[in-house]
This record gives sequence, structure tokens and C-alpha cells, in this order.
Amino acid sequence: MRIAFFSTKPYDRIWFEPMAKDYGYEIYFIELPFSEETMFLAKGYDAACIFVNDHVNGKMIDYLYENKVKALLLRSAGYNHVDVKAAKGKIEVLRVPSYSPEAVAEFAMAMLLTVNRFTHKAYGRTREFNMNINGLMGTDLFHKVAGVIGTGKIGQAMIRIFQGFRMNILAYDPYPNKSLDVQYVGLEELLSKSDFISLHCPLTPETNHIINEDTIAKMKDGVYLVNTSRGGLIDTQALIDGLLAKKFGGVGLDVYEEEEGLFYEDCSDEIIQDDNLARLTTFPNVLITSHMGFFTVEAMQAIAHETLENAYALENG
Ligand code: NAD
Repeated sequence: MRIAFFSTKPYDRIWFEPMAKDYGYEIYFIELPFSEETMFLAKGYDAACIFVNDHVNGKMIDYLYENKVKALLLRSAGYNHVDVKAAKGKIEVLRVPSYSPEAVAEFAMAMLLTVNRFTHKAYGRTREFNMNINGLMGTDLFHKVAGVIGTGKIGQAMIRIFQGFRMNILAYDPYPNKSLDVQYVGLEELLSKSDFISLHCPLTPETNHIINEDTIAKMKDGVYLVNTSRGGLIDTQALIDGLLAKKFGGVGLDVYEEEEGLFYEDCSDEIIQDDNLARLTTFPNVLITSHMGFFTVEAMQAIAHETLENAYALENG
């Protein structure tokens, strides 16, 4: 199996190179995104391996098909960046449905605890040898209400963590999982009763801006909101308006509506420019990270392993 591996991130090579050797696969690392301009580099390979920032349209699928590339190996769970309809009957699209739900849920909890207890601000002060704790008072999580929107793999890991903190949990999902030990309620009830809300649903036309002016108005004053799913779940302008109106106790964002082209195009230290992002960083109770909830040793190992297992399954029918 020969794989054309498109990645602008140096860390991918660290995980894939030794594992691919074990499988006996030849990997050609291309330090570019997969695009109409670069797709010709996949010619002569059995598969092209790509990430979520590599958008694949019908024209690109046809090019791969005509050049006998048998599969797109996605290093992601999501596949909304690939025209899967166009791929049907032409090339296989193989993804990694689950690599480490714990990685993302633990990161969501880290964000929540950070904004709730102002540890990011406190460290900023101690670095300047300022030991003043004024303005840094948080709240206990114990016996507070945690609202989980989306109870799939990551939402369930989040629920387990909240249970460990002895919180009272409310969940909302249009497809409730009856096997879970959690109380499902409607979205409005979750919004109006939760002290801490964590988003774990996918971005779809239905969930786009699920957090908007109306739904923010339904939340408790002083609510904490964490989004580690997709930026488009939140209407950024409505969030900024809510922050200006002091609606939120704190907000943690690992994903951001306009992140495409800003956060994960490459691993450079280039300074990015975005007005709304700049405004969000001015709020002391907002913490923003660059889409890194998945980024743990275990998750990276699992992504490499599952991707190569997909290649193996492809090769062996
Ligand atoms: P999953 O498919 O296992 O679960 C998603 C859940 O959302 C399902 O139970 C589904 O029924 C539910 N859902 C669908 N529509 C909904 C709606 N309108 N309201 C509420 N719930 C709804 O997915 P997962 O593995 O748990 O991942 C969740 C999301 O996390 C992904 O879609 C992805 O966007 C994000 N993610 C982020 C990172 C990161 O690094 N920050 C990493 C991996 C995944």
C-alpha cells in the first residue's frame, strides 16, 4: 500500500512514520494541504490521507478516480469536508469515527475549571509576582447543574466527568440514549436550569447557531458555557453581546466560528488577525484555545492506528 499523506503539521509524521513501517506501508509525506492545486501529487498512490481542513469536491474525486487512487483516508471523525455523494461508487472514504472521546471531554473540563476559578488570570499575576486574589473568586461545581448538549461519545465522557464532581446532570439530545444514567430534558429546560453548559453535538444545519440571542436569553445569569465541538454552534456576535451584558460567568472556546484558515491550517506561530477573536480575548472570563481538545498522546496514537487499520481493511477487502 502506497499512501500520499497530506499534512502541514510536523507532529503527524512522528506518529505515522514508525507505525506505517510496522504495516509495511510506504508513506509519501507532502507538507501541503490537499487541494485542487496539490491533488496531482496523489497520482500513482493507492490512497490519499487528509485532514479536516482539506476540502474535497466532486472534481477532485473524479481526478483521484481517473488516476486509480482507491481511497481517501481521513484522519478525522467528521467528514463534512468531503463530497461523499460524489465519492460513492468511485473511491472509498474511510474515517476514524472515535479516537479518544476522553481527550476532548477532559479538555472541556479543564476549560471549565480554568474559567470558573480564573487560574489563567491567577498565573498571569503570579508571573508578575502579584499575589493579589481580588477579582478571582470562583464557584463550587459540587451539586451544581451541568447541562450536556449532545450525548454521543464525547458527551458521554463529559457526563462521566461531571458525575465524578457530584454535579446534577441534565442532557439534551434529539436521539436520547436510554442506556445512560442521566436525565434527558428539552433544550429550553436545560438552558434555563443549567449552571454549566457543555456543547457536544455535531455542526449540522439544525445545530448551526444553536447558541444564539434567543437561547442565550433563556440561560441563567452567570452561566458558564464551554464549546469544544464546532465553532458554528455559537453565533459569535450574540456571544459577544451576552458577554457585554455580563450574562456569562465564563466562556471556554476550543473552537471558533471563523477558525477555518486561522487555527489549524499549519503549525506556524504566525500572528492571526480577526476582529471578533480580538474582541473575545478582551474579556477576562473568556478562555480561547486553538482547536486542540483532541491533542493528546493517546488520541494521536489512536488516529494513526485507526487510519492505518482502514488502509489494511481496504487492502484486504
Ligand atoms: P457523536 O456522533 O458520537 O455524538 C454526537 C451527538 O450529538 C449524538 O448523540 C447526536 O444524536 C447528537 N446530536 C445531533 N443533533 C443534535 C442536536 N440538534 N442537539 C443536540 N444533540 C444533537 O460525536 P462525538 O464523537 O461525541 O463528537 C461530538 C463533536 O465533537 C463532533 O461533532 C466534533 O464536532 C467535535 N470534536 C471536537 C474535537 C476537538 O478537538 N475539539 C475533537 C473531536 C470531535
